[in-house]
Amino acid sequence: MRYSSPRVAMTSLFSAIALIHTVVGTPNIIDTVIKEDKTWSTGQVSKFGVEYFTSHLGGQKPDLLYIGCSDSRVPSDIFMNVTLGEVFTHRNIGNSIISRDPNTMSVIDYALNHLNVSTIAITGHSQCGGVKASMNPGELEDSIKTFIKPITKLYRKNKKYIDSLPTDQERQQFLVELNVKRLVRVASKLQSVKDRWRKGLPLAIYGLVYKLEDGSLNNLNVTVTKRNQFDRKHLPALWAKGLTL
Ligand SMILES: [Zn+2]
Repeated sequence: MRYSSPRVAMTSLFSAIALIHTVVGTPNIIDTVIKEDKTWSTGQVSKFGVEYFTSHLGGQKPDLLYIGCSDSRVPSDIFMNVTLGEVFTHRNIGNSIISRDPNTMSVIDYALNHLNVSTIAITGHSQCGGVKASMNPGELEDSIKTFIKPITKLYRKNKKYIDSLPTDQERQQFLVELNVKRLVRVASKLQSVKDRWRKGLPLAIYGLVYKLEDGSLNNLNVTVTKRNQFDRKHLPALWAKGLTL
């Protein structure tokens, strides 16, 4: 059963925080979110019955693996309007996929091999701080610098084209989108992905971008559903513009 949007008003959370801040001085966000959770969970039970929660106790069977950025302004379950059990989610800085990173790899392997997820959505977003930092890593902590290094490399490889764009915002947005395309290609070459295709199991990998400016989720149309499809279908279009991944 798909429930209507179960979102507790974000506004009420922020209002509550603002109110505490005004009355007490220093807000305690944990007390606030626990209180908001109580309001939300009892509200869901009143609206839909206790099954809203108990129907998921037997396990999960999500159709979609979402890989996105940790940015607090990009709350995937909210903007996709999904409810419990629908999306398996992984978020990190710059919606990255790095094959030597056991965190991301374990999420992908679990989603494909144990949950039988058949769709992956790699989702970048406008105004991404990780992408912006990758263009000028400078004095960042080593942990961050290392994690976003593939995006820095991507920028350096395509610097001439990207730097020719007229504004900082356009340069950054272009790199956000190019990075998502790169990641669709990276994902398509992972072992668990190739194994799934070799077994004839369905798997589609999409590249999407969420826009902070209007809340829209946009398809970059670089979807792949079989091995080597990215290199055959999408890479030549990038090469034609002098771009490389
Ligand atoms: Zn981001």
